[in-house]
Amino acid sequence: MPADKNAAPPQPEPLRVPAADSHTHLDMQSGTVEDALARAAEVGVTTVVQVGCDVAGSRWAAETAAAHPAVHAAVALHPNEAPRIVHGDPDGWSRQGERPAGGDAALDEALAEIDRLAALPHVKGVGETGLDYFRTGPEGKAAQERSFRAHIEIAKRHGKALVIHDREAHEDVLRVLKEEGAPERTVFHCYSGDAAMAQVCAEHGYFMSFAGNVTFKNAQPLRDALAVAPLELVLVETDAPFLTPAPYRGRPNAPYLIPVTLRAMAGVRGIGEDAMAAAISSNTARAFDY
Ligand SMILES: [Zn+2]
Ligand SMILES: [Zn+2]
Repeated sequence: MPADKNAAPPQPEPLRVPAADSHTHLDMQSGTVEDALARAAEVGVTTVVQVGCDVAGSRWAAETAAAHPAVHAAVALHPNEAPRIVHGDPDGWSRQGERPAGGDAALDEALAEIDRLAALPHVKGVGETGLDYFRTGPEGKAAQERSFRAHIEIAKRHGKALVIHDREAHEDVLRVLKEEGAPERTVFHCYSGDAAMAQVCAEHGYFMSFAGNVTFKNAQPLRDALAVAPLELVLVETDAPFLTPAPYRGRPNAPYLIPVTLRAMAGVRGIGEDAMAAAISSNTARAFDY
């Protein structure tokens, strides 16, 4: 292993056309928000969507967006968080000592706080919500789905974008969206479907946000999906600190690395990076209505 395995990757060549990181977790990255935004802006990443995963993280996202014009917020209970709240897992919401966790009442209380935050003007999205069958076992499915349905309702009532986390749950995510009726603007974050699913998303007008894993060697199905997705529905994200694009895989990710993924995406589409960046800029603004 090289000695710099955990070191932050170098600044990429700046984009000539500014672009947005549609999904990041600044609160899980090292360094200050100001530094992360400055580093990103230096390479043309002038807008980020900060995504909350629990009540405390969602409050933080809303506050951070209110304090920084470059930041928009999305608020939610992550699909892996909802079952923790219901089952009273000590790693869940209860760790913040706000209330004893457990039961549907605890989930309802957390959802009420997400609902309150979703009304704020700097909060542009409700998410990340959805279904995760990779991290959550069968015993958590009911809580996940109940939470997902509630988030869809909140997004629609407030007219905010719905940000979907779909991990190994494509069919059920699409089914629940159909049953509830998707909000006007729905984003599949860290899009992980194949080309056939991209067609389904395109038919429904769902945005597909591609993360650094689109650059991974074994990710040809993702590139096939990107190749057939309508350009006006394509977004890019870091999901930082996770999913650092090649050739920096495994090292810490941050919004300033968007150009690396964006350039790889332009290559897949066979278009210039300026055209890709311009499309992503206007698509992200349309998706989150800012
Ligand atoms: Zn996610
Ligand atoms: Zn995320």
